[in-house]
Amino acid sequence: MIIGSHVSYGKEGLLTSVKEAISYGANTFMFYTGAPTNTIRKDIDSQNTKLAWDLMKENNIDINNVICHAPYIINPATPDLEKRNFAINFLIQELQRCQQLGIKYIVLHPGSSVDISIDEGLANIVTVLKEVLRKNIPVTILIETMAGKGSERGINIAELAYIIKEIDSPYLGVCLDTCHLHDSGVDLTNFSSYLEEFAREIGLEKIKCLHLNDSKNILGAHKDRHANIGFGQIGFQTLLNVINNEVINKLPIILETPYIGDYDDDKNRLYPPYKYEIKMLREKKFNPDLLNLIRLEYKK
Ligand code: FE
Ligand code: FE
Ligand code: ZN
Repeated sequence: MIIGSHVSYGKEGLLTSVKEAISYGANTFMFYTGAPTNTIRKDIDSQNTKLAWDLMKENNIDINNVICHAPYIINPATPDLEKRNFAINFLIQELQRCQQLGIKYIVLHPGSSVDISIDEGLANIVTVLKEVLRKNIPVTILIETMAGKGSERGINIAELAYIIKEIDSPYLGVCLDTCHLHDSGVDLTNFSSYLEEFAREIGLEKIKCLHLNDSKNILGAHKDRHANIGFGQIGFQTLLNVINNEVINKLPIILETPYIGDYDDDKNRLYPPYKYEIKMLREKKFNPDLLNLIRLEYKK
């Protein structure tokens, strides 16, 4: 199983990310090249990048399974021309950063169409991505399946199929997110029928990554609030079945579950759950006391 979590890209850039992933017992990870909510980006330090590559090799992390996530401020679906031009330019820079870091995949939210029609929103996404892909940077953009909050696009197979077919590029794929699928109305207890439709309309080879999250909300809630594995509305067994599906079990699986709050700490500390969730998923056994166990472990 290739599994890891979202990690930070810190002072030492990618090296910080690798160290954090190793501390969770992960064999892959996902990172942002800076804050997901702003455009401030530091130049890439080649020394630390080289050290990150060496550390990955020593720890059995194949860089081909490592994922970057584009910032949320990129909105390819937007009706605002200036914002679409910004999306093109910033996404090109992100792809160039990935290339410098040796990263093969970048996950992108297809964006929100705001006050224009679904079709116009989808057409904007196609125009923006075509422009970016014209640069021929060898990094694959993975459009993420979205929950359907507000005017989000990419919320069903038909929308994804339209984008993928219109662009028709080997450098375009899909990242499934279990919380988003569930919130968009896909019943994951019947995941194989979702995959059958995906195979018919798009092609299973386009799925390159899975975001594994439980959901705080009921099926079809269109909310997008992630829960810890086994502590949400999807449940442990269903998520376990998804990652053990033969289409998914060779792909990088990335946890984006919330940090655990410490109830009796007045400084209100938060602890990352990833080391424990990864272990639980590898052992295929749900621990209903996991969140308390994490609090106790970190307090030692
Ligand atoms: Fe995402
Ligand atoms: Fe996600
Ligand atoms: Zn989400």
